Amino acid sequence: PKFVYAFAEGNKDLKDLLGGKGANLAEMHNLGLPVPPGFTITTDACRAYLHAGEEPTGLREQVDAHLAALEKRMARQLGQPDDPLLVSVRSGAAFSMPGMMDTVLNIGLTDASVAGLAAQADDERFAWDSYRRLVQMFGKTVLGIDGDLFEERLEAAKQAKGAATDVDLDADDLRALVGEFQDLVAEHAGVAFPQDPRTQLDMAVRAVFASWNGERARLYRRQERIPDDLGTAVNIVAMVFGNLGPDSGTGVAFTRDPATGQPGVYGDYLANAQGEDVVAGIRNTVPLAALEELDKTSYDRLLDIMRILEDHYRDLCDIEFTIERGTLWMLQTRVGKRTAEAAFRIAAQLADQGLIDADEALCRVTGAQLAQLMFPRFAAIGEDSPDGPTAIARGIPASPGAAVGRAVFDQATAVAWAARGEHVILVRRETNPDDLAGMVAADGILTSRGGKTSHAAVVARGMGKTCVCGAEDLDVDARARRCTAPGGIIVAEGDVISVDGMTGRVYAGAAPVVPPPVVDYFEGRITADDDTDGLVAAVARILGHADRRRRLRVRANADTGPDAQRARRFGAEGIGLLRTEHMFLGERRKYVERLVLADSDDGRAAALDALLPLQRQDFAEVLEAMDGLPVTIRLIDPPLHEFLPDLTDLSVRVAVAEALGDPVGEERELLDAVRRLHEQNPMLGLRGVRLGLVIPGLFAMQIRAVAEAAVARIRAGGDPRPEIMVPLVGALRELALVGDEARTVFAEVSAESGTEVAFPVGTMIELPRAALTAGRIAEAAEFFSFGTNDLTQTTWGFSRDDVEASFFTEYLDAGIFRVSPFETLDRGGVGRLVALAVAEGRETRPGLGLGVCGEHGGDPESVRFFHDTGLDYVSCSPFRLPVARLEAGRAAV
Ligand code: ADP
Ligand code: MG
Ligand code: MG
Repeated sequence: PKFVYAFAEGNKDLKDLLGGKGANLAEMHNLGLPVPPGFTITTDACRAYLHAGEEPTGLREQVDAHLAALEKRMARQLGQPDDPLLVSVRSGAAFSMPGMMDTVLNIGLTDASVAGLAAQADDERFAWDSYRRLVQMFGKTVLGIDGDLFEERLEAAKQAKGAATDVDLDADDLRALVGEFQDLVAEHAGVAFPQDPRTQLDMAVRAVFASWNGERARLYRRQERIPDDLGTAVNIVAMVFGNLGPDSGTGVAFTRDPATGQPGVYGDYLANAQGEDVVAGIRNTVPLAALEELDKTSYDRLLDIMRILEDHYRDLCDIEFTIERGTLWMLQTRVGKRTAEAAFRIAAQLADQGLIDADEALCRVTGAQLAQLMFPRFAAIGEDSPDGPTAIARGIPASPGAAVGRAVFDQATAVAWAARGEHVILVRRETNPDDLAGMVAADGILTSRGGKTSHAAVVARGMGKTCVCGAEDLDVDARARRCTAPGGIIVAEGDVISVDGMTGRVYAGAAPVVPPPVVDYFEGRITADDDTDGLVAAVARILGHADRRRRLRVRANADTGPDAQRARRFGAEGIGLLRTEHMFLGERRKYVERLVLADSDDGRAAALDALLPLQRQDFAEVLEAMDGLPVTIRLIDPPLHEFLPDLTDLSVRVAVAEALGDPVGEERELLDAVRRLHEQNPMLGLRGVRLGLVIPGLFAMQIRAVAEAAVARIRAGGDPRPEIMVPLVGALRELALVGDEARTVFAEVSAESGTEVAFPVGTMIELPRAALTAGRIAEAAEFFSFGTNDLTQTTWGFSRDDVEASFFTEYLDAGIFRVSPFETLDRGGVGRLVALAVAEGRETRPGLGLGVCGEHGGDPESVRFFHDTGLDYVSCSPFRLPVARLEAGRAAV
């Protein structure tokens, strides 16, 4: 098999094979952009290596051939003593995993060739600087030596010299450091630093392969839901040098602002530096715009290339570049990560420019991003409002959001505190990949060093997490677990701070939060034109297209008139789940108690009669708010005892009263009833349809309340469309009995009122048996609504309330789930039951209505599944409706 591709043989669509970095290096090469020559080892080779523990047959020969071609082209050999060819060995998977895997620069330098490099460049310092970097990177990533050991020596060398940064070390200092580093290698790896260039190359390639399974990379993949079996490609690229003096340098750039999506020049540049220095925040970078003064020719060329790339990829790109003595080289590009806000603005702008069409604009944004735009943010805080929280620092707004939490200064504490339910803000000088677990656990990330392209910023944006970076006023002392702000204000571990990812401001204490403009727009408080920065208009436009495109209808889960009104504003096309439980609570509990205690039909009827008008009023309000749209009303579902007093409380009350000799007649009876109704496992007990069949008249009362409310609405000129939904059905006969009862009630109400009413009766499908016998159940059901919360519980045999907090993390770690089945529908199990019920239900009754009312109805991935499965609608909480609309549109494109 072909394991190695020259850049000329690849292109951007070969990401799976060549990784994103390799595919895009090939693409840039083919566009005629200045990319240093090189080649790519495929992900196939990586998978084969990881599987067998050794290089697959043929790989070595292919690398030989491509290396020979590279050497020929460069007219020198890898590590050639008098004029060495140096290469980088770079990881690069199909999905970008910034900084999660390994890269080694300056491969080919040895004790012999370092002199050759110095002579060729006429720069001793440069050669030793490069060699120092090689031994350090090789020692850390290839030989697995603790990176701090090298950093400590480097620090010590700087201190000894009184040097502020590594640039102030001269050739002699660096030569000495290389010696120390080589000793470190010998001591900690038990082998000498390899002096054979080809051995260096082979070891580095293997290390990059292996970095796919490094701990950081695995954690990142789990967080980003990237499969574990893809492997990484390896790019071997001729070195170009940004550390060749002040007219050289290295940088990163975006074709537009990744935080807001606005066009402009965004990036960071660092003179006399190599690769990772920029991202690592070793020295402070200058904004890209400053490059114009330093080297106008390269700057102009860079801007040209950015335009070419954005037009070519028709999207925001980020790039890495290096300038070697005035010559610009492109080292990487990819379609850049961006904030949710930027994603919407960019998609709308590119559609305006005609670079993409409306369908593509829709596909460029996700429901998860829209959900982020709906998060609350900090209220405008007056600069000098006396009781407001105090702004203590300001940094670069790197990833938006409003995070409030306790300051923690290391990743382990972040993880531990978050695990016990605390909101935490991870505060660091700068982050590196070792901090990842803490970043995942934190609500927000605050750093005192680094720009928009620092590790913290890039990773936070990828995770959709609030981040302020480069808050240089803060002096972060991780060892002492505190940081100091100007004016001597100290934030100690555990102190609450607020981090504003929109403005970059940091506050002591908890700052108040308000709804964001997108929510104001959905709520009708502002129009798209009121918003000056174009975000609301972009959302409105893209969501409008989703609405035109989608086949799935969206309904809301809403129980009251005000909920229903709100749901309509958020785009609800009906109610998919109206729970009636709340109609039995509060003041009304006493009627439920009477219902349970009644020992005669009359007593029961009296209790039901008292409930009837109250329920009728509840239904009338919702039917009015949802006039003209379907309202699916679920008959009472939870076990009765949930409406009765707590067993322990009541026992104590009765016991105390009896001890005091007080009269306890009624309470005593109630206690007996509560005891009788007590269940070990109420979720699987007397609830749902079982309740309706066991307590005569209960369902009939609810159905009558619906029918009478509808009559009143019709008389008032309205268009009520209630549907009766029966919960927890497992057998046709259960539903058929309730259906008969409903038809009797409709006939009675029609006769009494002189207004003809009859409404659809359907069922929830939330038990495996219901799904498995859906073909039969459809004989009595006019619609199905999949109750995927219960269906997930009963299919897996999990009690959601019990298991999520207890062992789901272990299950995720062990790879049993990629994501909780309560969050995203489990297609392989629960999904098959849904698909089966859809197919067999429709076979029995072709016009069967089909919807879903579990929380999955608002989950992006699940919405796609429901679209594919052919449901008519999803129903979710009002706040998730825009997300469902957007995802339903995306699914239809
Ligand atoms: P990552 O995926 O972590 O960004 P890269 O493979 O892109 O890792 O490399 C790390 C750094 O080294 C980047 O800044 C990159 O631009 C730089 N680099 C990689 N290869 C070369 C090269 N051949 N010449 C100069 N710099 C390079
Ligand atoms: Mg890179
Ligand atoms: Mg249920």
